[in-house]
Amino acid sequence: MSRFLSHRFDGLEAYVPGEQPRDRTYIKLNTNESPYPPSPEVSERLCSGEIGNLNLYPDPTGRALKEKLAALYEVGPENVFLANGSDEILNFAFMAFCDAEHGVAFPDISYGFYPVFADLYAIPASVIPLKEDFSVDYRDYLNIGKMVVIANPNAPTGMKIPLSEIEEILKSNPGQVVLIDEAYVDFGGESCIPLIKKYDNLLVSHTYSKSRSMAGARLGYAIADRELIADLEKIKYSTNPYNINRLTLAAGEAAADSDAYYKENARKIISTREKTAETLREAGFTVLPSSANFIFVKHERLNGETMYRKLRDRGILVRYFGTGRIRDFVRISIGTPEQMEILARNLKEILAEQKDGGYEYEKK
Ligand code: PMP
Repeated sequence: MSRFLSHRFDGLEAYVPGEQPRDRTYIKLNTNESPYPPSPEVSERLCSGEIGNLNLYPDPTGRALKEKLAALYEVGPENVFLANGSDEILNFAFMAFCDAEHGVAFPDISYGFYPVFADLYAIPASVIPLKEDFSVDYRDYLNIGKMVVIANPNAPTGMKIPLSEIEEILKSNPGQVVLIDEAYVDFGGESCIPLIKKYDNLLVSHTYSKSRSMAGARLGYAIADRELIADLEKIKYSTNPYNINRLTLAAGEAAADSDAYYKENARKIISTREKTAETLREAGFTVLPSSANFIFVKHERLNGETMYRKLRDRGILVRYFGTGRIRDFVRISIGTPEQMEILARNLKEILAEQKDGGYEYEKK
């Protein structure tokens, strides 16, 4: 840290993204990317001359892409906000909709960026424990009087919350924004987008990084009442008006035109997920019920760190968080059926090795 950094950031602990190592080729199951490439239409569109236009700024309104997304979700273009990944939506929402007076509430086990944004903007955070079974107790959020942020399905558990419970949260907090982060909704969740017509405090966040195979392009979108969208636009035009580059806008439009391709990929990922979960359960693993493109897994004879390290040594990357009551879990993204067969085989081998050695790393 230099001596120039403002003291207000002295205690800030930045978000740590999943590792992207370059030392060897890994089966990468650690950042919930899609194992399938973008649709052929996306590649065609990117090769069709847009590169030659990079001397020109992109359309700051992203009008063409907004119209396509609006048609897909049966809302108006004025209900759509475009962002540089859905992390930027979260950033703008924390900046725009909560402050030191009102604060924010989110679950203790959820997306690790929420507490970072709260810290960044010095917003007091109510961190609400999930229930023993890792589900959200919606009653904890009723009449809470703070911005509420909930990932549905949640990460890293993969567990979903019924729409009826989200509706109760919305109803009981009419003076606060309720941000539902639907990054993983296409893998078996139920979207609350239709509720935006009923609740002007609902902000729904989506990403192209998971089901639309475009994590590398950085594209997210929010859907909400037009006034909430106008607030986000105000923040965008006060920070980075050209937040989405030309290539990403073009790719995003082509991907919106290939919905059937992405739906089929999501179907394949769901089927691989269920098969993998079954195989691992048969081998004695606890697998939380997932509606996302990952599973959250532990085994009583294998400590979480050992599982992570031994898989890594064998060329398979998974995500290990190593804190509190999720210390013994690892999060495994769903890859192709072949990748998941290799994962399951390696986990069984690691387990067999443990039979003699027991816990390799001290349980903390
Ligand atoms: N929300 C959740 C719950 C996530 O897991 C992620 C992915 N790390 C994001 C938002 C952000 O995704 P992106 O910025 O790639 O759209």
